[in-house]
Amino acid sequence: MKILLKNAMVITMNPTRDVYRSGNILIEDDKITKLGHFNPPADCDEIMDCQGKTIMPSFVNTHTHTSQQLARGLADDVDLLTWLRERIWPYESSMTEEDSYISTLLFCVEQIKAGCTSIAEPGGQFVSGMAKAVIEAGIRAKLAKSVMDCGEGLPKAWQHTTDEELAKQEEDLKKYHNTADGRVKVWFGIRTIFNATDELILRSKELADKYGVGVHMHIAEAKSEVEYAKATRGCTTVTHLNNLGFLDKNIIAAHSVWLSNEEVEMFRKHDVKVSHNPASAMRVLGFAKIPRMLREGVCVALGTDGTPTNNRMNMVDEMWVTSLIHKGWRLEPDVVKAEEILAMATINGARAVGDEALYGSLEEGKKADLIIINPNLNADMLPVHDPIANLVTSMHSTNIECTMCDGRWLMKDRILQTLNEEEILRAGREHAAAICKRGNIVLPDRFPML
Ligand SMILES: [Zn+2]
Repeated sequence: MKILLKNAMVITMNPTRDVYRSGNILIEDDKITKLGHFNPPADCDEIMDCQGKTIMPSFVNTHTHTSQQLARGLADDVDLLTWLRERIWPYESSMTEEDSYISTLLFCVEQIKAGCTSIAEPGGQFVSGMAKAVIEAGIRAKLAKSVMDCGEGLPKAWQHTTDEELAKQEEDLKKYHNTADGRVKVWFGIRTIFNATDELILRSKELADKYGVGVHMHIAEAKSEVEYAKATRGCTTVTHLNNLGFLDKNIIAAHSVWLSNEEVEMFRKHDVKVSHNPASAMRVLGFAKIPRMLREGVCVALGTDGTPTNNRMNMVDEMWVTSLIHKGWRLEPDVVKAEEILAMATINGARAVGDEALYGSLEEGKKADLIIINPNLNADMLPVHDPIANLVTSMHSTNIECTMCDGRWLMKDRILQTLNEEEILRAGREHAAAICKRGNIVLPDRFPML
C-alpha cells in the first residue's frame, strides 16, 4: 500500500525541527519512506492533496486512565478524600471486564478524534479489556494494571499481597505484551507510595528490567503524599525512591509536582521521564517545576490524566493549558514556549514510553503516525501568522481532519475508520449508569430537580 500526502506544511519535529512549507510524504505500508521535496511516484494507491493543511506527528498521551472514561463528571468540585473514597474507588472497584473494554473503546474514540495514537495507562482494572479495545481501535498503548499491596480503606476487591499483584502482572504480560504487531505493550504499574510497600516498588522495577519494559507510577503527586513519605519512610517520595535505587530511564513519573531542586537533579541524572498533566494538576495538586525541568534537561512529556481529574481527554487542550499556566505562576511570558510544548506532546512523549526510534517525529524510516490539520475549517485557528504557536494556542481537536497510526487511517474527514462511534457512545452511556448503580454512587443534586 502506497499513500502520498502532498503539498502540506509539514512539521517534522525531527532533531533539527525542519518544517516544509509545501512538502510531500510518501507512506509505504506502515512507514514513511520519503519526506520533503520529491517527485511523487506514479504508482500510488492513494493520493491526498493537502494544500493549505498542516501535517505533524500524532500525539502521545503519556498518562491517562482508560478505565476512568465512564467516570467523567462523577467527582467535580469535591475534596480529595470524597473524590477517592466515595466516588472513584467505588466506581473502579465496581467495574467488570466488559466495562473496562467499553470504557477504553469510548476513550479511544476521544483520543483518535483529538489526534492521539499512543497512550500510557498507569493502572486500569482489566488489562484484558483494555487490550481488546486498543487492538480494535488501532492505537498504540503501554498498558498496566492498577497495583496496590497496602493502604487504608481499600475496597475489599483490591486487597492483594505483593506476590499476587506481581504474579497477575506477569500473567498479563505473557498474554498481551507485544501483541497487535507490537502496538500493545504491558508495563508494570504502581499506583502511589500510599499504596505500595518498598518490596513492591523494588520487585516491580526488577521485573520491568527483566522483561525490557517500564514502570508507570504517580510520583510526588500531592503535598499530602510527600508528607506521608516523610512520616513513613523518613524522607520525601523522590528522595526515598532514589535511595531505593528505583529511579531509572524506564520510569514514567506521573505529575511530579512536589520535587525539590535536588530531586529535579535526581530525575535528570537517572533520566526519569516526567508526565506533566497540567489540567489535572490545577484541580488540587499544584504547579510542577516544568520550566526548571526543561532547563535542566529532564524529559518532560504531556498527559491528560483521567476524566475524573481533568474531564477533557484531549492533548490539544492539554497543550493549550500548558502554554498558559507556567507563564501565569512565574509571571514570565516567554517561559515554556510553543515549540517546547509541541515537543512534549510528540517526540518527548515517544521518548517517555521508550519508542522514540519508532514515532513521535516525521522522518524517513519511522512509522507513519501522523495527523492532518485543517486551519481553514472554521474561525478558531485563523489567521495563521505563526504556524507553530498557532497549533499550541489556537488549534481545537475539531481542526484535526485525519489521524493515522502505523500507516493505517484511524480517522478520515472526521469519520472514524476502525470503530463504530455511534454504537460506542450508546454503550458508554449504558455501562456508566450500570457501574454507578452497582457501586451505589449517587451524586447530590446541585439544583432542585423538578
Ligand atoms: Zn493518574
